[in-house]
Amino acid sequence: MRFAYDDDNIFARILRGDIPCKTVLETEHSLAFEDISAQAPVHVLVIPKGPYVSYDHFARDASDAEILDFNRAVARLCEQCDLEDGFRAITNARAHGHQEVPHFHMHLLGGRPLGRLLE
Ligand code: 5GP
Repeated sequence: MRFAYDDDNIFARILRGDIPCKTVLETEHSLAFEDISAQAPVHVLVIPKGPYVSYDHFARDASDAEILDFNRAVARLCEQCDLEDGFRAITNARAHGHQEVPHFHMHLLGGRPLGRLLE
């Protein structure tokens, strides 16, 4: 698969500081910030700082350090955002996944019962 990264996407602009965001956590390789249109009391987007389009792109091409950093950031966010009662982690990819922003991101949702995802 060929992944073409668009430097002008909204999250790339957030990473460059061109667009503000409400930062929840920043690590060496990752950034977490509040979704602008929150669907739950906790709705955080976790992104790698590197130029990856989607989860499969990230999992294939990111370094071990980036992948570890991202996953550890998710674990830290679960503590920091009081997600002891549970959470949902979603990542949408490309057209069938209804991905709107072409920079890999994980939605971390919680703070209320989220209902069944799949019937
Ligand atoms: P996707 O459909 O790509 O998985 O989700 C993209 C998410 O990015 C949406 O939940 C949307 O609300 C969020 N979003 C879009 N533009 C911005 C923005 O400028 N700032 C922030 N914080 N979130 C955004």
